[in-house]
Amino acid sequence: MAKFLLKKIGWLFTLFLTTTSIAFSATEVEGMRVWSATEKTRLVFDLNTTAEYRMFALTQPDRVVIDIADTYLKRPLPQNDFDNGLVYGVRSDRKNNGILRIVLDLNQAATYSSYLLKPYKNLGYRLVVDLSQTGYKKVITQPKTLKASTTIQPILIAIDAGHGGEDPGAIGIKGSREKDIVLAIAKKLAQLVAKEPGMEPIMIRNSDYYVGLYDRIKKARQAKANLFISIHADAFLHPRAQGASVFTLSDQGASSAAARYLAQKENESDLIGGVQIKGKDNSVAQILLDLSQTSARQASLKAASDILRQLQKVGAVHNTTVQHAGFAVLKSPDIPSLLVETAFISNPTEERKLNNPNQQSQIAQAVMNGIRAYFYHNPLPKTLLVQRQHVIAPGDTLSGLAQRYEVSLNELRLANGIKGDFINRGDTLLIP
Ligand SMILES: [Zn+2]
Repeated sequence: MAKFLLKKIGWLFTLFLTTTSIAFSATEVEGMRVWSATEKTRLVFDLNTTAEYRMFALTQPDRVVIDIADTYLKRPLPQNDFDNGLVYGVRSDRKNNGILRIVLDLNQAATYSSYLLKPYKNLGYRLVVDLSQTGYKKVITQPKTLKASTTIQPILIAIDAGHGGEDPGAIGIKGSREKDIVLAIAKKLAQLVAKEPGMEPIMIRNSDYYVGLYDRIKKARQAKANLFISIHADAFLHPRAQGASVFTLSDQGASSAAARYLAQKENESDLIGGVQIKGKDNSVAQILLDLSQTSARQASLKAASDILRQLQKVGAVHNTTVQHAGFAVLKSPDIPSLLVETAFISNPTEERKLNNPNQQSQIAQAVMNGIRAYFYHNPLPKTLLVQRQHVIAPGDTLSGLAQRYEVSLNELRLANGIKGDFINRGDTLLIP
């Protein structure tokens, strides 16, 4: 309609209308948010509409330039939340041709990638810029205590704090964010795993940035993790819902409506967290699904039961049996994977508990006890846990063996699933 009219009116008028229409369609940068980690930094620019842009890098000094066509800043860009990441400053300049130039000043050379995201829920158009340290490669540290032996391998536990960065996860009534709480619990768990002889933690994320669901799986697989634990603290429709649950993957449908509801919410994470959904992700998903998952699934279930049993000891559980649902993050074909919903952040009492560092430690300790029990019951070849075995000889007593191997009686019981003191001659005991 507008174009049709324009053709009929003189060029002066045309110029006026065109200029006006540009003013109306110009893109506005409404804000900028930053998430920094040592090896990567993500910037998200909130836009009022879609935009055309280009990016390039310059050296001496290192910087990345973003030119956005026909755009202006709604307010000045924030200057002070870079947290010692790759970026130390941001500048902007609006050119006469309408291009908004944003310059990111870098501490060191970085590779960059970027993409536009369409509105999702309460989030509008977003331009996502990811910077990674050039030449950055994750180094898996070998446990120092095991250096002497070349044949013993550490048991690697991938710890996945849910959500992060753009995706806060569920938010409690008091405003606590799931992403912060689960990161705190994950860090406590990582410390416990690091202390455990023969085990090493692998943190899927270390600070407040988003990692895509399939990238979480990829990271765990690249590290050759032996177990993958995703930690969450979700909201439910009823504020009174309470207690922990442990989930494993199901693609035959969820075990309950609540499980289905939670899985659906968790799987939305990529849309909120700013992952570019394109062919690449789908093909990865397909490869993962095509592979046989049977043995990993049985192992997942065993590990989940062991962890659930330990969680029951420290507080209320929502379900006394392991739940199943189609959580995307659990789709590793070859790593036993489980998801722990530690508690409901939507329940005011549990929100308060989740914020309490002592409670966080208790949850982390319960998960650790579950992990230990699982690997004691299902020892992996070439790991420390199978190196120490004892075949019970006549005259052996449990307390005598505990003394001999310098472990506590309780540890010995836990490692072998023994309740009292009775042991069978000829049986093999695992020595923790
Ligand atoms: Zn969650």
